[in-house]
Amino acid sequence: MKSVTGRAYFDWNATAPLREEARAAMTGALALTGNASSVHAEGRAVHRLMEEARERVAHLVGADPKNVTFTSGATEANMLALTPAFEVAGRKEPRDRLFVSAIEHPSVRAGGRFPTKSVETLPVTSGGVLHLNALPLALKKVARPLVSVMLANNETGVVQPIAQIAEIVHAASGVLHVDAVQAAGKIDCDIARHGADLMSISSHKLGGPQGAGALVRRGDVHIAEPLIKGGRQERGQRAGTENVAAIAGFGAAATAAKLTDTRRTAALRDRLEQGIKGATPQAVIFGDRVTRLPNTTLFAIPGVKAEIAIIAFDLNGIAVSSGSACSSGKVQPSEVLAAMGVDAALARGAIRVSLGHSTTDAEVDRFVETWNIVARSLLKERSGVAA
Ligand code: PMP
Repeated sequence: MKSVTGRAYFDWNATAPLREEARAAMTGALALTGNASSVHAEGRAVHRLMEEARERVAHLVGADPKNVTFTSGATEANMLALTPAFEVAGRKEPRDRLFVSAIEHPSVRAGGRFPTKSVETLPVTSGGVLHLNALPLALKKVARPLVSVMLANNETGVVQPIAQIAEIVHAASGVLHVDAVQAAGKIDCDIARHGADLMSISSHKLGGPQGAGALVRRGDVHIAEPLIKGGRQERGQRAGTENVAAIAGFGAAATAAKLTDTRRTAALRDRLEQGIKGATPQAVIFGDRVTRLPNTTLFAIPGVKAEIAIIAFDLNGIAVSSGSACSSGKVQPSEVLAAMGVDAALARGAIRVSLGHSTTDAEVDRFVETWNIVARSLLKERSGVAA
């Protein structure tokens, strides 16, 4: 893959490199003049481009194109979805309470447009999977719940049993929103097969540009109150002149991602994990006993702090990230690992390595060689021996 010269990029879950198909679609869109809402030929040409992108995004998740609402990204899609104002089959059916899993992305855990007191957190197992037994009990307390559970976690890559969760939620007259940002393009995201009512996806995790995303609906569930009000764009679900170039890039990336075979990525990830275990047998790989995305590894070794290891990798030309959210230079403990009951000291060492379709064998070799050197040196430092 193209990156800063000589570097190896292993942070695809943060953002994926722009696919050539997306770049070409964006360049084409930027050459057009016209507002998609205008009736003249220029406007219609831009409108067509956007509708083609809508079909491509819909196809990625097996949805009807008219059920795709473009947004500025998945954060906005999540905010749009998480509202008490719902209509089901044309009838007003407001949601009384929002249930979110303890491992959701902050844009879901923030609770969208629900008051804080109406948001409840659902526990996960030590493997990072939603406690299915706890779910019906929690939902029993309310008449019309809204539930938000992600398809795959951004830190661990752990995949949730969404189809089973959907059955439980629907039996309790609930609506299910699924954040499929990390899953899209990596595993099957067919909205009907999973039984989700709403699904959020993000362009830049698929190899499209940053700043575009979509909320996808299935069937009769409608959001009754837009988040951004004004013009009638996006069937009244999201006002404002659309970011056509980004949407065109998103569409092209969605098609390319749908066609990508992730078995090669999975084999590389497995080899990378063998390399980690070979160099440091004491390494803990989080979520390795449950179903995970084919591209993600989150690991730690006792006594080594993630921020030190990440800087050491960076100095050696390798981009990885920590499992912790880093805000204003201060590394916060990972709430995902805390929810899984991981010891706080071990969680501080969590390093996330995420691969993508253009990751090479040579990059994986380089990662493993570097880890051998970095880990040895950090462990020596810890035991007080000069490295
Ligand atoms: N959900 C998940 C699981 C994510 O990983 C991210 C991006 N880190 C988002 C939502 C937010 O997406 P965006 O960057 O498009 O706002």
